[in-house]
Amino acid sequence: MPTSSCTTTHFFTVDVEEYFQVKALESVVSRDQWLTRPSRVARSVDMLLDTLARHDTRATFFCLGWLANNRAEVVRSIVHAGHEIASHGFSHERVTALSRGAFRDEVRSSKRALEDVAGTAVLGFRAPSFSIVPGFEWALDVLIEEGYRYDSSLFPIRRPGYGYPSALRAPHVIHRPVGQIVEFPLATTSIFRYRVPAAGGGYLRQFPLGVIRRAFREASERREPATFYIHPWEIDPDQPRLPVSRLNRLRHYRGLGDTLPRIERLLGEFSFGAIGSYMPSLERAATPLVRSGAA
Ligand SMILES: [Zn+2]
Repeated sequence: MPTSSCTTTHFFTVDVEEYFQVKALESVVSRDQWLTRPSRVARSVDMLLDTLARHDTRATFFCLGWLANNRAEVVRSIVHAGHEIASHGFSHERVTALSRGAFRDEVRSSKRALEDVAGTAVLGFRAPSFSIVPGFEWALDVLIEEGYRYDSSLFPIRRPGYGYPSALRAPHVIHRPVGQIVEFPLATTSIFRYRVPAAGGGYLRQFPLGVIRRAFREASERREPATFYIHPWEIDPDQPRLPVSRLNRLRHYRGLGDTLPRIERLLGEFSFGAIGSYMPSLERAATPLVRSGAA
């Protein structure tokens, strides 16, 4: 990756899950069917690892604890390639569907399972479907209590289903009664004064690439790292097509063939790294980038 002192290193992150473990397909694939479906995640992860290696880029892989228990070789391959392992929960359940106790079980069990397989400490968490939304700030308290040092679940946008519109856009420290945690919000940009999600994922597939590039270019100009995300299934155009609603078909299947070339373009244009390698400098800093009393 470029190392010039004037280059901002953004964060490349991957939410590692099978194609059938997502919200858009939950009506046709129940949790008790997960082990009966042919696995496709390893091949896509290998392709991402190859792509990242060609660009000499390290990334953060938010993995399900379920993967550590059932597809441990995938987690090991990520570790062997030199990337950071973080938690995406255990069973891809949204925070908004969980009690505080059940969420604690998810983050505790996934941390333990991933650390056992990876042999490295898990410091970070990303909620499935970015589901730490207003009213669910208690989830940050649980993460702090369970030993997590950073979170990357807040999406500073307003949209149905998720979003934390008042979240700061830059990495910042959130102070809570039980302690503090560093937040790495997902990238956004503004078009005609409207805040637009531009962090990757479905937005990389559905929006003109210029929108995503603009978000990272603007963040570079502000010297603020921005956070990109993608899923392994988003670079797998050959995955089975499941019978879901037209809206969910669009959400899940549109643009799959274009994703990898777009990722290549971004990796060529911007500098990316893993969140974990950025943490020590942020935690050591006497004054964090931005202070926030409330999430
Ligand atoms: Zn996910």
